[in-house]
Amino acid sequence: MTATASDAAPAAVHFRFFELEVLRTRRLGHSFLRVTFGGESLAGFRSGGYDQSLSLFLPPSHQEHTVLPSTDEDTWFGAWRGMPDEDRPVMRSYTVREQRRTPEGVDEVDIDFVLHGDACPASAWAGRAVSGRRIMAIGPAVAENKSVRFQPPAATDAILMYADETALPAAAAILDRLADGARVKAWFEVPHADDRLTLSTRADVDITWIVRAGGAGRERTEQVLSELRTAELPAAEAPYAWIAGEAGTIRAVRRHLVQERSVDRRAVRFTGYWRLGASEEELLAEAYAGQAASEDPTSDL
Ligand SMILES: Cc1cc2nc3c(=O)[nH]c(=O)nc-3n(C[C@H](O)[C@H](O)[C@H](O)COP(=O)(O)OP(=O)(O)OC[C@H]3O[C@@H](n4cnc5c(N)ncnc54)[C@H](O)[C@@H]3O)c2cc1C
Repeated sequence: MTATASDAAPAAVHFRFFELEVLRTRRLGHSFLRVTFGGESLAGFRSGGYDQSLSLFLPPSHQEHTVLPSTDEDTWFGAWRGMPDEDRPVMRSYTVREQRRTPEGVDEVDIDFVLHGDACPASAWAGRAVSGRRIMAIGPAVAENKSVRFQPPAATDAILMYADETALPAAAAILDRLADGARVKAWFEVPHADDRLTLSTRADVDITWIVRAGGAGRERTEQVLSELRTAELPAAEAPYAWIAGEAGTIRAVRRHLVQERSVDRRAVRFTGYWRLGASEEELLAEAYAGQAASEDPTSDL
């Protein structure tokens, strides 16, 4: 989930702890690894679909499974923060790509991890995930919850989407759920050509894949903006935009849509999924220090 202090302690009635056990993994493209989780506690897991996110607690490399001193709603946070640095599981936000019950009655949840480097705890954990490993998660116990951010108003007559690779699982899950005939223009930015995954949807979707040319920061954002600037948007009276990915790029895409394309700023749902040069702890620390509101595009303006 987005790194804000309030998200770190979600409302008990909507969210609770689940224990997830790795059942299997599958490489989806150059950058994506799908980890399928099971576990008895998933019987109470209620994904709201779309871009449903959850918080994972991933063990340090010297531990096989996640150990938390408390999963009690009132005490877990202080207990987790109080753990020695070297033993404290990292908390990271991810997307429920799919929840399903198999014909055999097994509850499963897929999470698609971007493998972006072994020095980064969540990416590294995914890279070494094997069946039987157990992690903890704070996830939805009711389908209607605030971690489903995709909420187009009823009058929406076209949907605009931008996602980088971290938000592609969310975009794919949104496309899965859209109704027949929904009109969508989407830009999906990925690091490699074979990250252009096959996506299923009943919607009427026009996807532009942007394969990153290798630039970082401003250069990368410019590549995205140049695609957006030359694109024809679907004619619409009430477009709704959902954009998610690296925070700097998200800020620029939002500005483009609002200032250059006259999309109503209230109809743009934008979420920074990560920020170049900052780990999720650092984003969380900023949120605690109260610095995030002005800079962090994850705050819903
Ligand atoms: C609501 C929400 C849903 C998300 N869903 C997903 C999802 O389904 N799949 C997914 O892979 N990610 C998802 N993310 C993004 C993920 O939480 C971040 O990428 C996170 O930083 C990964 O943790 P880490 O331990 O690997 O790296 P961190 O320790 O957090 O970061 C270490 C360094 O790596 C950089 N970094 C972080 N992510 C990337 C990246 N992808 N590519 C290159 N550099 C990076 C950071 O800027 C930092 O410099 C989601 C984020 C949010 C807020």
